Amino acid sequence: MLQLATMWWWDGFWMNALGTAGGNRRAAESPEGGAGGGGEGKPVEGCWFCLGSAAADTELVASVGEEVYLAVDKGPITPEHALIVPIDHLSASVALSPRCFAEVERYLSALRAMYASLGRELVAFERHLYLRTKGGNHCHINVVGVTPAAGRRAGDAFRAAAATAGYTLELLPPPVRGSGPDELRRQLLQALGGADTEYFMALLPDGSRLVRPLMRGERWPMALGREVLADLAGVPERASWKQCSSSPEEERQRVEQFRQLFKPFDVMQQAEDVGAGEGVGQGQQTRE
Ligand SMILES: [Zn+2]
Repeated sequence: MLQLATMWWWDGFWMNALGTAGGNRRAAESPEGGAGGGGEGKPVEGCWFCLGSAAADTELVASVGEEVYLAVDKGPITPEHALIVPIDHLSASVALSPRCFAEVERYLSALRAMYASLGRELVAFERHLYLRTKGGNHCHINVVGVTPAAGRRAGDAFRAAAATAGYTLELLPPPVRGSGPDELRRQLLQALGGADTEYFMALLPDGSRLVRPLMRGERWPMALGREVLADLAGVPERASWKQCSSSPEEERQRVEQFRQLFKPFDVMQQAEDVGAGEGVGQGQQTRE
């Protein structure tokens, strides 16, 4: 049974984890349908996820796309625990522009292929809660690779944890082959009841999602997603980030190892390397 501690400070942990970075970033264009607590996606002073924020630090960044970047988690559950984050201060994945949402999906596909190369399956979660500080929530999706056996029980694990907190998760089947990210985004918006809804969403190995929009006054246990991932990864003690601290040198090595591991699957990097003789890895594939 998972311990469902209420850790409202968890979102505060990432301070100083990310920094200014250029990468493939295109100049900010008005995000269609974007809903940023920080005001139209501008960098928010003190937000750890804003690449344009002075408080940020690039050391954990593994790949930077046009509108989205990939980072290694500061207090990782596993060495391959990654975060997918929009570069701009935007609150939730379903509120992203169609192009930004599609880039999140491309990173998910790339990570799925990377985990598959390790014999693992992708499990992820996102929660969108209105936060009163630092310009509100900055969208980030936690992603880990787990064994196939753990992947098979991921849905039940999320459901059980949610039930303990008094919530029932709704199952959204995997996207129909060939339907594309726009259709997925539309289905998620429909299931959640709009782009500015608070919600919890889990992504399972088969591409299905478990979602729960949160109504006014409902409180979601902040640690729930991380506790389920740590349980599935077989390291429940790492649900607490306090168990996951490392020295700056260990962290530097860990990030470098992740970058090397991800490189063959990095669709963004490959786009830049066209003509440079780089092979095309599985990461080029998408689920579309
Ligand atoms: Zn931000």
